[in-house]
Order: sequence, then structure tokens, then C-alpha cells
Amino acid sequence: MKKPLIVQKFGGTSVGSIDRIEAVAKHIIKAKNDGNQVVVVVSAMSGETNRLMGLAHQIDNVPPARELDVLLSAGEQVSMALLAMTLGKLGYPARSLTGGQANIVTNNQHNDATITHIDTSVIDDLLAQDLIVIVAGFQGVNENGDITTLGRGGSDTTAVTLAGALSADECQIFTDVDGIYTCDPRVVASAQKLASIDFPTMEEMARKGAKVLHLPSVQYAWNNNVPLRVLSTFDNGPGSLVKGEVCPRPVCGLAIQRALISVRFEQTYISSVVQQCQMLGIQVWSTIPGDQFGSVIISEAQYAKLNLLFKDKIIHIESSTALTLVGHQAKELISMSNELLARHMIKIAHFDVNDRSLMLFLSAESIDKAANLLHDSYIATNQFLEIHQKRA
Ligand code: ADP
Ligand code: ASP
Ligand code: MG
Repeated sequence: MKKPLIVQKFGGTSVGSIDRIEAVAKHIIKAKNDGNQVVVVVSAMSGETNRLMGLAHQIDNVPPARELDVLLSAGEQVSMALLAMTLGKLGYPARSLTGGQANIVTNNQHNDATITHIDTSVIDDLLAQDLIVIVAGFQGVNENGDITTLGRGGSDTTAVTLAGALSADECQIFTDVDGIYTCDPRVVASAQKLASIDFPTMEEMARKGAKVLHLPSVQYAWNNNVPLRVLSTFDNGPGSLVKGEVCPRPVCGLAIQRALISVRFEQTYISSVVQQCQMLGIQVWSTIPGDQFGSVIISEAQYAKLNLLFKDKIIHIESSTALTLVGHQAKELISMSNELLARHMIKIAHFDVNDRSLMLFLSAESIDKAANLLHDSYIATNQFLEIHQKRA
């Protein structure tokens, strides 16, 4: 009978030192001893991708995208080899593969590529030899064989896509928190751990900055019915399962996105700036129109690219962050949130709504406090429900 197959992904903190790699090996060995075939995806050791990025930026503010991918993909290659050595030493033979060796093919969008196809034959052969297979996360190759990377946090997407291609029984994302919470538990101490979270909520949380899962990984799992679980490398808890059931609460979660930058132009330039951003692969988080001046909000990490093109036209820059309420009634909460935050001297600079969320742009200094205030009102207590019911 065919053994069950599990894909386990370990993030940067989980493989951050040799001791931690040994702890990771124990999780893998347990899964193997439980009778599973195991495919492992690893991230670069914590801090490594940033270190490599820093080296590139010492050479060029906007490094050539192809060479940046060659550089950044090296981080994951270090982790996979160290983990394979550790498993071998513990008596569990393992084989490490780069994205290219694992036949992970992407489109040509360097630095933010999308996986188009995985030919699993190499992995299948290694599994048939009873080996543990370790694949470098965050990377693939384009049709020319050039290395590409999947965008920051992309190892989650490698894991989930591999799990789909291999028809794995579960994709387990091991990280440095013990599951998915209603908000980042490092910011909001009263955040609640969720035994399960529905796909629409998780997708919107990931889209709006909850980096516990990379957005394309959630989308892929949703579209392809991949059983997806987030759990801790550092304990043995069950973690959180991402699955179909819809969250019944008006607000299901809060997402925090830091390191944004609001860039002001004369209003007449705004549409061409937005167009150029699309062409350059710069994500526009929002635009703020005005009579004379308008602004676009982008990620700080992409500012150098924009500056290269529009240097003379940029009038002012200001750092920004976004706090997003996710839930089917979040869009009704703008005035209540405004009042609540104003009582604590926190100003909403700008907001956007859609059917699933309300996104508030705030100063970097106020976001943690704002997250705690809104979480207490809308999630930890039922204040919103009470007020809503009184009004109805
Ligand atoms: P890894 O290196 O394992 O991929 P990440 O740093 O990318 O880990 O993601 C895990 C982090 O995501 C946690 O340490 C936590 O601070 C953050 N996070 C943000 N939002 C949430 C949330 N809703 N639930 C859990 N963790 C969250
Ligand atoms: N190492 C990459 C990053 O830091 C990918 C990942 O960790 O998922 O973004
Ligand atoms: Mg991550």
C-alpha cells in the first residue's frame, strides 16, 4: 500500500542555527517514523536573505533582477544542504534539491515569479528510494533555465505547490508561532489562536500583510484543495488548519502591513505613475487623489525603483503602514474605527474598503496601539456586535 505523503516547510527562524536544524530534523524523523513519505521545503536561515539583499544594495540601489535572483536563491541552498547533512548523520538519508533540480518551472517575472509547472519525476524517484527529499524554497527556474525567486516569503508557496503537484496528504508550514491568530500575536497579546480559518479570510489577511502565509500559497491551496496547516517548530501542538468553513463573526482578523511609503506627486502625474508601477511590477497599495497633489502608496522596498524613474517629479515622501480589518462587516466600520482611534489621538490618514475588508493607513508609530484598540473592540469583546444590534 502507498504510504501517506507529507510536505513539511520550515521557515527562517526554524533553520536559524545548527541546533535549530537538529530540532527540525526531529520533526521530519517523527513524520518518517510514523510511516509517511516526507518532502521538506526550507527557507534561508533567518536574516540571510536580508543580508544578501544588503550586499546587492551596496553595489546598486536597483540591482539587476536576474542577478538578484541568483544571489538570493543561495540562502535556501545553504539550509537544504545543512539539513540533508544533519538527517544523514542521524541515520536518515536525505537528498537536497535546488528549485531547478526539483523541476520547479516559473514564469519569467524575476524577483516575483509564479510557479507554472512542477515535473515531480525526480522527487518521485528519490521517494521511491525511501529518501527524504529536501527542496530549496522560494526558487525555481524559468523556461531558459535561469533562476527565479517567488517574492519575499515565497517558500510557503513552494511547499503548497509541491504538495499539490505530489497530491500530498497534508502541507505543514512550520514556523515560529504555534498557529494562525486573529492578529499578529507579537503585536496584540490578546490575539486568539484559531484552530481553523476559512480560505477567504486567510487570503485577505495574507493579501493585507499577515505574513504568516505567503499570499500565493493560500490561493494555490484554496484552488487546488491542498490541506494546509500552520504549526510551530518549537512545540508539538496541532496548529491551525486553513479550510473551507466561513468565519461567522463580523470581523474575523486584523492584518498589519508595515514599511509602506506614501509618495506625493502633482495629481496630473498620478495615472502615469500607477501605469509605470504596473509595468515595473511595483504593487500599488492605494492611491490618494487630491485637487492639486495626489499620492501613491507602495512598499518601501520598491521605492528605489520608482525613484529611478520619477526622481524629479516626487514632491514628498512619508512612511506609512496599513491596518486591515478582515470580515464581511468590516466595511461598515469606518466611522466607528475613526471615533475609537481619535479618542486615543490616532489619525486615519486614508482608508480603502472592499467587500471583505477595511484598510486603514496610519503612521508607523500608531499602528501597534491601533491594532490593540481595534482588536479589543471588534474581536476580543463583542462591542461591535452590541452596538450593531442596538442600531438595528
Ligand atoms: P517563517 O520565517 O517561518 O516563514 P514568517 O516570519 O514569515 O515566518 O511568518 C511568521 C510570523 O508571522 C510570526 O512570527 C508572526 O509575527 C507573523 N504573523 C503576522 N500575522 C500573523 C497571524 N495572524 N497569525 C500568526 N502569525 C502572524
Ligand atoms: N528566504 C526568503 C525570504 O526571506 C523566502 C522565505 O523565507 O520564504 O523572503
Ligand atoms: Mg514566511
